[in-house]
Amino acid sequence: MLREHDFNLFLRTRQLFHQFLVDMYIKVERGCLRYIALNQKKLRAENYIHLHDTISAYDNIRPNDIGKMGILPSTFVNSPRYLQEYTQDTFTYVRTYGRPELFVTFICNPSWQDVTQDLMSGHKATDEHNIVVRVFRLKVQKLMNVVTKGKVFGDVQCHMYSIEWKKRGLPHAHILIWLKQKLLPNQIDNIISTEISDPEEDKNLYDTAIKNRIHGPCGARNPASPCMQNGKCTKKCPRELI
Ligand SMILES: [Zn+2]
Repeated sequence: MLREHDFNLFLRTRQLFHQFLVDMYIKVERGCLRYIALNQKKLRAENYIHLHDTISAYDNIRPNDIGKMGILPSTFVNSPRYLQEYTQDTFTYVRTYGRPELFVTFICNPSWQDVTQDLMSGHKATDEHNIVVRVFRLKVQKLMNVVTKGKVFGDVQCHMYSIEWKKRGLPHAHILIWLKQKLLPNQIDNIISTEISDPEEDKNLYDTAIKNRIHGPCGARNPASPCMQNGKCTKKCPRELI
């Protein structure tokens, strides 16, 4: 943990710190796996009859030949039963309530003030995943609260989301939302908009759109932009107005 007036060596070692986290987590996970392996009776794993049947259905493979079988319960994150449970939940939502109304992608921004203010001097957001993931989690929870309890899109029937990393360090969430009142075509413009809002009406929204939702400047005005390749913008900007 971060403590005031305390020199924390671990948090200052960047990638070595990440390696330390991974190693420690493997220790924790090994402990969990060992518990599951030694407590199959307690976890009632023998009740998974169909799995036993499937394995004994293969003539050449008998459960005894492939070592001692251990079954991971659905509480073990990312185990087959865990994933199956969530998939089945989604199918149930769709069967009962139809298609979700909203598909929202929520991405993490490493220049969020909540992230940058806690970084140690000389560190980038990618050096301190412990801060980034905590801030991201709090923000996702806040967003879900605003949507479900604040009812910004109306009453919410149910929702679900998954968080992904894409192996590049920063997390993002895909969120599905089922509303009680189905959306009508004439209501869509109220929810999705590509207009630049009036800075006098909502300065915050205007600044966010200008900073985060506009491509460039690139091309001749800024040849060093990351989208530039061989003197051309890979996103084909600037484009003709239609
Ligand atoms: Zn560009």
